[in-house]
Amino acid sequence: MSGVEFHLGLTGYPLGHSLSPLLHQAALTACGLAGDYRLFPIEPNQDAGTELRSLCARVSRGELGGLNVTIPYKQTLIGCLDDISESALVVGAVNTLTSRGGRLLGENTDIAGFKRDVSTLVDLSSGQKALVLGAGGAARAVVYVLLQAGWQVTLAARRQEQAMQLAHDLNKYARSHYIETVDLEKLSTLDLSAGWGLVVNSTPVGMFPLVEASPWPEALELPKAAALYDLIYNPGETRLMQQASAAGMRCRNGLGMLVEQAAQAFEIWTGKTADRSAMVAALQKTRNPKSGRTL
Ligand code: NAP
Repeated sequence: MSGVEFHLGLTGYPLGHSLSPLLHQAALTACGLAGDYRLFPIEPNQDAGTELRSLCARVSRGELGGLNVTIPYKQTLIGCLDDISESALVVGAVNTLTSRGGRLLGENTDIAGFKRDVSTLVDLSSGQKALVLGAGGAARAVVYVLLQAGWQVTLAARRQEQAMQLAHDLNKYARSHYIETVDLEKLSTLDLSAGWGLVVNSTPVGMFPLVEASPWPEALELPKAAALYDLIYNPGETRLMQQASAAGMRCRNGLGMLVEQAAQAFEIWTGKTADRSAMVAALQKTRNPKSGRTL
């Protein structure tokens, strides 16, 4: 063990089912680092602002070596930062806080997490056509990665104003084509017969406990030549993944991205390479697929 102790944690609400303590404790142990990863639940009430600012001050002062942020504070905490990384700006949300010389820096590790994990499913440099379902925070990370890799992105969302806002904000990163948007209810209007390389689900549809739900209509054929990446990791195989497998598509769930975004945060805080396999092993040892745990 080195002499330094890393006091890390997560804020948000509710946090009861978070997998982050497992992942980070495994990473600390695998690196031989002393420390802990604690939960700091802050109920969204009239005192939340004061509690959040006090927690942020502990990060700035170095009392906490790093803090993850989850729902509902990923956007609101931006107002407390001294500095923000480009990735957090792109996504419009922070999930990782750290102190740099007493200044509070906000990062978002979903971009790096998705980029690294989706690369195990498709060759990002192949620059094909991708269909992204959903237009929330995670979709922003996904679309950014694909645009930067030169992919042509079609965004399918139930609220067109949200999809158009995403397109407006991210089109500047497009290397080839601008983002096209389509109503999620009107997927059948797309020509799905050829040319698609990837479908990404970045909606929560199909997540525990509503595991029978799918964002893809049962009667509509999937683009068979494409691979499917589902950001959901609980259940390990979503209804959408079952539909895609039946259509002969290669599939991957979001567990690798979950581990990777945590690993990236760990590396920002500790400067050490996170042992991804130790983190995955910790999840596999204790994970109950029916527990409904979320990050
Ligand atoms: P978010 O910001 O709330 O965005 C969710 C998106 O899905 C929004 O466009 C939302 O539209 C849409 N949506 C929600 N319910 C829907 C429904 N019933 N039908 C159609 N569209 C629906 O959430 P997020 O942070 O982007 O997360 C999205 C998913 O990705 C979650 O399942 C999350 O757990 C997962 N995720 C996984 C990782 C990972 O590491 N694997 C990382 C980040 C996120 P409305 O705004 O109209 O509701």
